[in-house]
Amino acid sequence: NRRIVLNSRPDGAPRPDNFRLETVDIPELAAGEVLLRTEYLSLDPYMRGRMNDGPSYAPAVAVGDVMVGGTVSRVEQSKNSGFAEGDRVLGYSGWQDFAVSRGTDLIKLDANMPHPSWALGVLGMPGFTAYMGLLEIGQPKAGETVVVAAATGAVGSVVGQIAKLKGCRVVGVAGGAEKCRIAREELGFDECIDHRASDFAEQLAAACGDGIDVYFESVGGKVFDAVTPLLNVKARIPLCGLIANYNDTEPPAGPDLRPQLMMTMLVKRIKMQGFIIFDDYGPRYNEFVAEMEKWVREGKVQVNEDIVDGLENAPEAFMGLLKGNNSGKLVIRV
Ligand code: NDP
Repeated sequence: NRRIVLNSRPDGAPRPDNFRLETVDIPELAAGEVLLRTEYLSLDPYMRGRMNDGPSYAPAVAVGDVMVGGTVSRVEQSKNSGFAEGDRVLGYSGWQDFAVSRGTDLIKLDANMPHPSWALGVLGMPGFTAYMGLLEIGQPKAGETVVVAAATGAVGSVVGQIAKLKGCRVVGVAGGAEKCRIAREELGFDECIDHRASDFAEQLAAACGDGIDVYFESVGGKVFDAVTPLLNVKARIPLCGLIANYNDTEPPAGPDLRPQLMMTMLVKRIKMQGFIIFDDYGPRYNEFVAEMEKWVREGKVQVNEDIVDGLENAPEAFMGLLKGNNSGKLVIRV
């Protein structure tokens, strides 16, 4: 049983020596437990927060403990009457080959589903985040302009496609020409602007001639700075993530833009709302899955995945995620 543990806490961007690959015995089952063999492991930006000590909305991973993470697994052995050998489940086994569960944290999946990894992406937590954040907080209306940060990522790719289904004009923001091409040609965004371009703010302004009605924020930093002056009266900002800041160890230097930002929010009556997906919307998960399965089946939502083989490659893939090396939902085929 291979497992990847937190070897030390990062100071800034994670490094390979913050992780350690160990081999341990496969655990024995007690009554009521199931043994799970991981098929797919989801890698997500929130894991960076779990590597830090200190207060957050969820507890930190202890040094020496297995890195946390959502997984699709097969039931290898069962001493729980609710599960049989061969069942496929969505769970939270973390970065390891095998895990033991009492079953209460597991959701059964179709054992023969053709794309099990989708349960970690478009049909799982990131898709749910896109769906609830955009529709409940963003309240997009036909004809409005929606700007989507990290446009080709797990959440952003779904946000933009749902906004198109609702009749909006959708402008993505992504890192690099190839990601912008994917957003436009494969995901159906109207435009996509490269945030690495030296004239990024000007290009974004040109693409948003009618201003911005909804900004789906996943990034922060200079993307947010470029968006702020373009916001329309009564714009809505679902505040989903701030990945540009996750590795920060101190506040950024430079002018203090808070008064300017708060004045914009005041005079334009802007609504910005943070959310933590399962804490805020957990009871609506089944409603989301039913609707998203239908959209995917009908070809209305395209699936954008980045699959990396081998548990041993999880640390490198995760470090790359924080730098934008992934294109689409990052999943490890364990
Ligand atoms: P992605 O698949 O979008 O991967 C992260 C992407 O972020 C990278 O590919 C990169 O894309 C972009 N990025 C990284 N650093 C920067 C930077 N400095 N400036 C601009 N872009 C950057 O991840 P997810 O879709 O899984 O997550 C997106 C966001 O949503 C994260 O902030 C995450 O924390 C948040 N989230 C929040 C949830 C909640 O409940 N609130 C639930 C799930 C996710 P590019 O190359 O295009 O820049």
